[in-house]
Amino acid sequence: MPHVLETPIEYLKGVGPQRGELLRKELGIATFGDLLLHFPFRHVDRTQFNTVAEAVDESMPVQLRGTLKQVRMVGEKQARRLTAKLVDATGSIELVWFRGLRWLQPILKEGGEYIVYGKPTLFRDHFNLAHPEIEPAATWDEGAAMPLQPVYSTTEKAAARGLNSRGIGKLVQALLPQVRQAIPETLGSELIGLLGGMGRGEAVVELHFPRDAKHLETATRRLKFEELFFIQLRLLKQKQLMQEQVQGNVFGHVGMHFNAFYNEHLPFELTNAQKRVVKEIRKDMGSGHQMNRLLQGDVGSGKTLVALLCMLIALDNGFQSAMLAPTEVLAQQHYRSLSRFLEGLPVVVRLLTGATRAAERRSLLKALHAGEVHILVGTHALLEDRVVFQRLGLVVIDEQHRFGVAQRAKMQAKAAVPPHVLVMTATPIPRTLAMTLYGDLDVSVIDELPPGRKPIRTVHRYDSSRIAVLDFLGSEINKGRQVYVVYPLIEESDASTGPARDLKDVMDGFEALSRRFPLPKYAVGIVHGRMTPEQKEFEMARFKKGETDVLVATTVIEVGVDVPNASVMVVENAERFGLSQLHQLRGRVGRGAEHSYCILMTGDKLGNDSRTRINTMVRTQDGFEISEVDLRLRGPGDLMGTQQSGIPQLHLADLVQDATLLQEARAVAQRLLTADPELAQPQHAPIAAALREQMEGGTVWGRIG
Ligand code: ADP
Ligand code: MG
Repeated sequence: MPHVLETPIEYLKGVGPQRGELLRKELGIATFGDLLLHFPFRHVDRTQFNTVAEAVDESMPVQLRGTLKQVRMVGEKQARRLTAKLVDATGSIELVWFRGLRWLQPILKEGGEYIVYGKPTLFRDHFNLAHPEIEPAATWDEGAAMPLQPVYSTTEKAAARGLNSRGIGKLVQALLPQVRQAIPETLGSELIGLLGGMGRGEAVVELHFPRDAKHLETATRRLKFEELFFIQLRLLKQKQLMQEQVQGNVFGHVGMHFNAFYNEHLPFELTNAQKRVVKEIRKDMGSGHQMNRLLQGDVGSGKTLVALLCMLIALDNGFQSAMLAPTEVLAQQHYRSLSRFLEGLPVVVRLLTGATRAAERRSLLKALHAGEVHILVGTHALLEDRVVFQRLGLVVIDEQHRFGVAQRAKMQAKAAVPPHVLVMTATPIPRTLAMTLYGDLDVSVIDELPPGRKPIRTVHRYDSSRIAVLDFLGSEINKGRQVYVVYPLIEESDASTGPARDLKDVMDGFEALSRRFPLPKYAVGIVHGRMTPEQKEFEMARFKKGETDVLVATTVIEVGVDVPNASVMVVENAERFGLSQLHQLRGRVGRGAEHSYCILMTGDKLGNDSRTRINTMVRTQDGFEISEVDLRLRGPGDLMGTQQSGIPQLHLADLVQDATLLQEARAVAQRLLTADPELAQPQHAPIAAALREQMEGGTVWGRIG
């Protein structure tokens, strides 16, 4: 028998087929259960009345009672609107509606007494109420007004047909007594106690119609916790299952290659963070389970070296490694730095990219298959089916967010026993997001830069002070330093409109700099997305060798490029870059011993978000702090980009505001699984049942998330 909460919504008293259709289509509410989970997004006090004279604060909603005058339909077509005046003893205020006019007009009677609720907006020196809720005073039920009245989200269309916030509230009110007893409990008594003792049924009721602020708070906390808790429990359970089911290669010992490198070839001491992370990884790779680890570390924190040490451990245990980079330039750079590190050691490193010539590719693939290549570095070219390893044991993926899950899977399929996977990212991800997104991975963090790095001085300059900036660049160049000048990415433009404005910007910039820093004393290079890979490579190489003083570039240099002598990063139109991009760009300098600078150029007019981004960059160099600001500005979905939409939809909780609760939820979930891995103990039965439903992914009423 279907659960009462699965009853189609039209069977609720006051709904019927037409409104049922509306609820389904407009608000996604198809069942009793769906309506129950359509929680209010805030509560307002509807027992208090204000006067018209008090409606002068845009941040304070008001409830007014008065007489309606001058109901008018004005304007044409798109500008068509319904206006009226509400008059009380203290004055009159204009009400205006742009939508739902057909439905509204007949209920607005001049001379009638009405109750109006809305937020004042200042419009041409007068406050008005746009789209207020309105109801004839005759039908206003004084007794039903609540100090904490729920406000529900709705759509214009639904609102115009009686399903405004109040209308929805009435339906919920009708529903609650019928289903109150049927709301299943999903947490055990122990957890409920921890969360303030409120059962799920009670919490749901209190969230809609709270008795008082205290109960509302407890209910909100309990339900948010629950939402986050089950996400974490699911992720941790998945991890547990993976470990039980998927065998991993055991890299049991550390041998000759690692030791020879570590003791005789390592040009510097590892930072403590690097040591800790290598230890974590070694433990994983020796455990008999497949490693799935995310390595986070700011630009320049020395992730490549950590990866190399791990690949040497693989080699010591008879396995090959692959290292994947997102771009040709980066793959080459990794290849070169690994080769340099390994000079004089019997370790074979090879490079495979789209640009590898056919003959070389053939011999390389043969050697790879024969096990004669120990470390293969490359781009997406490594994913191709013809790339066959003899015994692949470790896959390192640099700059994770550019590779999708499918590509990760493709690499894993290249060995009978799935290889260990180390994903490295230089874009710090806020802890809360990492926990939610990569909750089934282990996470290591390198939170320390190698010694001797000087902080990068970051400043914000307006376009109007360009001359002073150029003079400064001149003085740095004359000291023998090199300079990046970065422009926003060139966008594709269609042939009919000619070259994109961005291309013109970067070309203009190049010409201006070439005039300011003329040959033969100076040299200016340029790299942008419309050039062929060979041209780009050529220009990058010239800059790396110090043959050019200034490199004008679009964001192709964003990731990982290493030129220690470059000490100034100028970002043009900095307001058009996201925070993580700016952070990445800044990470290009400050790699040598000299003082380094990052100059963010913008126009005079800056929006609020742009200003926050620029100020954040000027204030801090901490990638994690920057990523937290980014998360606050953009929200989790945008932050990770659409291809990474593995972020679960949250109905109540918020990854920014509820960060602490999230950490608690994860800790509790972790403790629970440690104490009772199969959730077999009787007191955990409700949790086990809810989790099972979630993991099976069917239509589950127990689900909040
Ligand atoms: P990431 O990939 O994390 O941005 P890299 O691995 O490119 O950083 O390292 C940045 C630079 O720091 C490289 O030149 C590297 O050789 C150097 N480096 C790495 N670890 C250390 C260390 N422990 N001490 C000094 N220099 C280091
Ligand atoms: Mg790197």
